[in-house]
Amino acid sequence: MGTTTYPRVAGHPALDLVDTVHWRLDDARAIDTLPDFGAVLDWCAEIALLADPDALRALASSTPETTAAEHVAIIALREAVYEAVFDESPDAVALIAREHVDALNRSSLQLGDNRWHWHPPADATGPRASIAFLAHDLLTSDLRAARQCGDDACGWVYLDTSPRHNRIWCTAAGCGNRNRVKRHHARNRD
Ligand SMILES: [Zn+2]
Repeated sequence: MGTTTYPRVAGHPALDLVDTVHWRLDDARAIDTLPDFGAVLDWCAEIALLADPDALRALASSTPETTAAEHVAIIALREAVYEAVFDESPDAVALIAREHVDALNRSSLQLGDNRWHWHPPADATGPRASIAFLAHDLLTSDLRAARQCGDDACGWVYLDTSPRHNRIWCTAAGCGNRNRVKRHHARNRD
């Protein structure tokens, strides 16, 4: 597992995935913290999405073309989540629908905790299938609370589950504090 700690401020793992892009709204500053398949596995491991992420790590070196293609498809899925939720993009919704059907086709139902769970394939397509399930779960839930951070550049997204539905920032300590300081200085200049 890598040393990166991925943000989990969104309240839904599919939106946490969107937040693996930092400074999304500023092209000059944007950072994609999932640059390759290995980073995707790190992210999956951090949220305990896969039963055995370490078994997949060997694949990244033994079948680099397959895992590179999976990485490209996972990033497309991540961006589709963003565009589906925040732009209601029909193309993005269609991509998620395709990926979800494809994931179901490749998965099997397995019993655990007295219920049946969709179990993704154990091969390199497993992470994409698991992420497609997350994306489908998000898209078919109530999206009224979906928000984007009020910062000009941050771009992180989250479900506003605050009691008064007035959460403006991804994190109070990060963007909230920085913008308060900025506003304070702007006021003092005037
Ligand atoms: Zn923010």
